[in-house]
Amino acid sequence: MARYTGAVCRLCRREGEKLFLKGDRCYSDKCSVSRRNYAPGQHGQGRKKNSEYATQFRMKQKAKRFYGVLENQFHSYFVEAERRQGVTGENLLRLLETRLDNVVYRLGFASSRKEARQLVLHNHFTVNGKKVNIPSYALKAGDVVAVKEKSLSSEKIKSVLEANSARPVPQWLDKNLDAKTGKVINLPNREDIDTPVEESLIVELYSK
Ligand code: SF4
Repeated sequence: MARYTGAVCRLCRREGEKLFLKGDRCYSDKCSVSRRNYAPGQHGQGRKKNSEYATQFRMKQKAKRFYGVLENQFHSYFVEAERRQGVTGENLLRLLETRLDNVVYRLGFASSRKEARQLVLHNHFTVNGKKVNIPSYALKAGDVVAVKEKSLSSEKIKSVLEANSARPVPQWLDKNLDAKTGKVINLPNREDIDTPVEESLIVELYSK
């Protein structure tokens, strides 16, 4: 399964804003965007391109990086979003939001989407009582995500749950902190998704 293995703080610096890819560090003064808010590399502090294409391209890159999705998979999400009824950009964000790794992160069962992906791959979660270890698994309304009972005794899982217990959970999810479960009440609408992305620019880019 392909995934980005480079330095993640570079991705935030390239987009010029925090994408919260590293958990606790993102909220500390060690954050690279706070310390060096310019693009990485030799020409990072040079003139930025402001063309229409560059703006659309950067928005697509930002969305991909935010959700930890590589190019081919992101494009597949776009094709599916276009095929579905409704507004393509909103469909795209909904598809990304309802990935299992994103929901695990949103529920506060992981410190970052990257960690959520790892925990899912390591079999720490069930969906509707069945083991699921596919980070891109698409959740539906009514699905219940739970930390596997056996995993609740793991020190790693205990510390992650403790560290993220106070993080607010979006309205389209219902978290049961005691049971360590979360239910998808309904699929999110655009106003439920706080991702700092202008999805219309991505639609324009792919529609060229
Ligand atoms: Fe991005 Fe977090 Fe690194 Fe800051 S610490 S640059 S928000 S990944």
